[in-house]
Formats: sequence, structure tokens, C-alpha cells
Amino acid sequence: MGLTRSEQMSRIRGKDTSPERLLRSALWRAGLRFRLQSRTPHGRPDVVFAKAQVAVFIDGCFWHGCPEHYVRPRTRNEFWSAKLLENVERDRRQTLQLEAEGWRVCRFWEHQIFENLPEVVDVVRLALQEEQWTPPPSWTVVQVDPLPGEGDMEQRWMEELRNPMPRRSVITQRSTRKWKRTR
Ligand SMILES: [Zn+2]
Repeated sequence: MGLTRSEQMSRIRGKDTSPERLLRSALWRAGLRFRLQSRTPHGRPDVVFAKAQVAVFIDGCFWHGCPEHYVRPRTRNEFWSAKLLENVERDRRQTLQLEAEGWRVCRFWEHQIFENLPEVVDVVRLALQEEQWTPPPSWTVVQVDPLPGEGDMEQRWMEELRNPMPRRSVITQRSTRKWKRTR
């Protein structure tokens, strides 16, 4: 298979494993055929099954508020909180607008692509094939409040993307853990 120079370089750097590319090739191997670079009336999903009206988004764990991997920046809390909320609101708007027009919307966290690709492929397959389909719940961090005192504790507030109220919260230690890249 011929690679462009930049693909060769990225392969050398070990960066040809973008989550989008991994997902696309896994879907292809599973026999699920989609259109590349397709638009929808509301946004540009990472994978679009135009005929079946299934849209698949991969959301970056930091920018979109993954419950496991969102990291509260130490500075400019207000700025980053506003940014996070803006991204979540956009994700919600896109999702609800597409669903209102009959689309099925699958949203995955970036880490799911690296940690459990077969399960991700199964969710997409069901969205394509099931008569009745309900999207899996998608909990998202929308706000993190640092707590006073020792130990770097924080309160993390989460909303389900399609049903934002009631919020849930957990009190936990600030963590910067990343997922395991197994590929
Ligand atoms: Zn994550």
C-alpha cells in the first residue's frame, strides 16, 4: 500500500493511529460501508452512513468532557469552564437536531476507540440494523469545582447529553490519568 510522505512520517512518529482512522478501518473490516467526508444538515460527524442516516462522532476526552479523562486546568478556571460548556452545548444541539430529523447519532469518547473498539463497532452495527434503537447514555462533565483544603479534591458535575437534568456529581481527587493506547 502506498503511503504519502506525511503518512510515512506520521507512521514513524507512531501517530497514524488517529481514533478516526482506527474506527473507520474497524468499521470497514466489519463490513459496514460508509461515505467519507460527508456532511449532515447539522455538523460534520466523523463517520456518516448517509442512506441509513446514522452519524458517528468521536469526542476528544478533554475538549468534550469525558467523565474519566477530563482534567481541570489549574489556571483560568472560568475561561476553561466556559469553553467546556460551549463544546458540550454544541454536541447536544447537533445530536438533538439530527435526531429530530430522524438520524441515529452515536457518540463515542476517544478513549473508547483505543480501549474497546469491538464494542464501539457493535454499537454502530446495532444503530444501522436494529428496528428499534436507543442510543447508549452519554454522560459528560460540564463543570468542575475545586474544593478547599488538602488533597487536591474537586467536585465534578455531569449531565447526560440528551437529558441534562438532573445533574450528577462526584467528589474525587484531581487526576491527570490517560487511557492506555494499546495499538
Ligand atoms: Zn476518556
